[in-house]
Amino acid sequence: MIYSELMPQQFDIRLDTLTGASAGSPEGAIVLSTGAPGDKTFYLETFGCQMNVHDSEKVAGVLLGRGYRQVETIDAAKLVLYNTCSIREKAAQKIFSRLGSYRKYPGEEKIIGVLGCVAQQEGEEIFERSPWVRLVCGSASYSKLPDLIAELEAGNRRVMGLDTDTDATFETEITRRDNPFRAYLTIIEGCDKACSYCVVPFTRGPERSRASASVLKEVRRLADAGYSEIQLLGQTVNSYRDPSPKRKTFAELLVAVAAIPGIRRVRFTTSHPRDFGRDIVEAIDSVPELCDHVHLPVQSGSTRILRAMLRTYTREEYLEKIAMIREARRPISVTSDIIVGFPGETEEDVEETLSLLDAAQYDGVFAFQYSPRPNTSARNMPDAIPEEEKGRRLARVMDRQREIQRARNEALVGETFEVLVDGASRRPGQWSGRCSNNRILNFTSPQEKLLGEYVPVRVASASPNCLVGEHVV
Ligand code: SAM
Ligand code: SF4
Repeated sequence: MIYSELMPQQFDIRLDTLTGASAGSPEGAIVLSTGAPGDKTFYLETFGCQMNVHDSEKVAGVLLGRGYRQVETIDAAKLVLYNTCSIREKAAQKIFSRLGSYRKYPGEEKIIGVLGCVAQQEGEEIFERSPWVRLVCGSASYSKLPDLIAELEAGNRRVMGLDTDTDATFETEITRRDNPFRAYLTIIEGCDKACSYCVVPFTRGPERSRASASVLKEVRRLADAGYSEIQLLGQTVNSYRDPSPKRKTFAELLVAVAAIPGIRRVRFTTSHPRDFGRDIVEAIDSVPELCDHVHLPVQSGSTRILRAMLRTYTREEYLEKIAMIREARRPISVTSDIIVGFPGETEEDVEETLSLLDAAQYDGVFAFQYSPRPNTSARNMPDAIPEEEKGRRLARVMDRQREIQRARNEALVGETFEVLVDGASRRPGQWSGRCSNNRILNFTSPQEKLLGEYVPVRVASASPNCLVGEHVV
């Protein structure tokens, strides 16, 4: 998973100084007006991971390219789109409760559309459960979106795109980017791994990488537009395989992106441990523009559970990757995802996960209670763990990680980091930004215009989830 300030609903618990302020989806009842909104207006709400956030940026681009205007409220919109997440059951339920709000809606003024992973997973059932929905487009079928919109505009009552046997990637002429400093760029879509708990291979289809030249062309365009930080995205970003004759490896692509004039920071997420090689660490070590942070989800510290999860590595192999990262010449932050309560997980397995936390010394962890998902092989495994017990295990993992983070963050007091300033408090002189290692640093400065600047900040105090500092002027 992808790690982002824009996906609070994805995290059962967030214990991480490495994520930012939350800007989650607006909650609450949907108010529908009977007034006629402008014909070419759209409202788009996004759930889930960073890839969904970026898909929404591209969906918005497709619509803007067709003359639509984005509006801030459902009330003001003709076209209402939900870009959905189905990674855990709660996330999927949320969408149906949103759609339920339209049940009593009498008119035809609004076109309701469901995009993303729930659309891919539920398909036609969405029309049955929520007959007022007119567009269903799965996350593996976005390349069809312009045609689907055209069909709706031509008056078709219901349109649907759900192919997964695609080798197309979702590329758009226009992408409406939300963050003024950091641009997201998907370099690989879908997933060919088959983790036994995960819906992603079903909802996002097979792996498709973008040609390196097309990635580099877009980064050049972004640099010209003023973006200095690029985040390369993929469910398993480091499984990237250049489909063009250039055959650039992922590490070579990182280096090439970092070499583009104007680019000061390059991030990438999420890395799969199996495909994480020394060449990536060497690239980070030798290219300062490559950020010193790797998100390398382990999921469990027990080899027995990792086997049942079909993660394709053992505890020992994973810890060898961590040792390789720790041997780098510059310190590299490492973060992880953990699932607790996988079927058959014993007390001993939980202890192994806790001891892995000690061994790995993560700088941040996203921990989740296992949620059985449709189509996945884990769904029918015996020895389900009761929800209450999953909750207890989650708390134990987070307690242990909290102490690790406290110590790791306190060790940074007195150090100075370069921060890209991306937030200003209402209180004058209070700012926040992100270090190359992806930690958030809240700081004070006598200067008045800092947004978008790279500035040195000395860490004055630290807690498990927060660094506080002052601008070194
Ligand atoms: N591709 C990434 C990887 O392999 O690490 C993860 C992508 S997934 C969108 C983000 C995270 O959600 C996973 O790392 C896992 O911890 C969690 N996750 C996925 N399926 C889950 C499930 N069925 N129940 C609980 N957590 C789940
Ligand atoms: Fe899901 Fe595993 Fe693919 Fe990650 S690697 S998206 S967890 S199947």
